[in-house]
Amino acid sequence: MNEFALIEVFFKSIVHTRDDVVLGIGDDAACLSIPLGKHLLVSSDTLVSGIHFLADFDAFDIAYKAIMVNISDIAAMGGEPAWVSLALTLPECNEVWLKRFSEGLTAALLPYNIALIGGDTTRGPLTITVTIHGLVAAGKAVARSGAKAGDAIFVSGELGAAALAVDYLSSGHVEDKELLMEKLLHPIPRVDLIPYLQQYATAAIDISDGLNADLNHICDASGVGACLDLEQIPVHPVLKKHRPHKALAMALQGGDDYELCFTIPREHEQEFKKQLKQHGKRCVKIGMIEEAHGLRGRRGACIERLPVKGYSHF
Ligand code: ADP
Ligand code: MG
Repeated sequence: MNEFALIEVFFKSIVHTRDDVVLGIGDDAACLSIPLGKHLLVSSDTLVSGIHFLADFDAFDIAYKAIMVNISDIAAMGGEPAWVSLALTLPECNEVWLKRFSEGLTAALLPYNIALIGGDTTRGPLTITVTIHGLVAAGKAVARSGAKAGDAIFVSGELGAAALAVDYLSSGHVEDKELLMEKLLHPIPRVDLIPYLQQYATAAIDISDGLNADLNHICDASGVGACLDLEQIPVHPVLKKHRPHKALAMALQGGDDYELCFTIPREHEQEFKKQLKQHGKRCVKIGMIEEAHGLRGRRGACIERLPVKGYSHF
């Protein structure tokens, strides 16, 4: 199968129902209709074999995760995902692998109403780069830079299960393996929180590198610091079960959870909480933004400095 047949069979065949794709796969560039009054959000994430996944992972899962981590970035801006393009580097044309990959893409894109609108296909070490485009009401994108001293810090979901999964992959331990691999391979981007971010948040980020490291990005961008209430961190129960002594540290420093961390001004906190409760959503208040730079953790009357080193490729 040559490059063009491969694109036709495995990528052009992925259907979508968006009427804002004027030209999709097949031309020199995609042509998209951006609604008046919207801003375009653009973000890329790359998954490299041996770094972000192991070469023997099911291609379905690799494709699925590549899309989810990109959706998560758009959600963290308070936007709606709309279109993706895919730059795929393959060591060989393995049709069985490509079929699974294409199925994973379809499973990830369809429920979120996202169209695959183009890409590039090359030969080389297995690498997947997805560029996602999202839409947000003009002027309403939630940046990292808007946090102010006195804002409450919230986090969605439960943290640390993906970090434990990575641990278990290297140690070969198998208890709760299904749950852990589900957390690692099929993260659920928090698009359900987009309306609340839009309405209430001063800053937001998705937790890809670990809560400490990512909250620290908000602090740096906003010129502030933060103090976390360490007893309030929502540590995933499976992590508490297997690593009772290291659970909190792993929940704070482990990556790949794709939950959202965001800040809410004091005057909107009660209304925000009320809205969440009404809609059956759970986010936990884990601390406060402070003027003093740096990241601190509080346990009772004790305050400690928190490490902010997340994953860095270099
Ligand atoms: P060009 O030579 O102009 O770069 P290509 O031959 O690379 O075009 O691609 C042909 C068409 O297929 C383009 O519309 C491109 O966007 C699309 N395409 C290529 N690779 C992929 C892929 N992996 N997924 C989706 N679309 C792709
Ligand atoms: Mg090309």
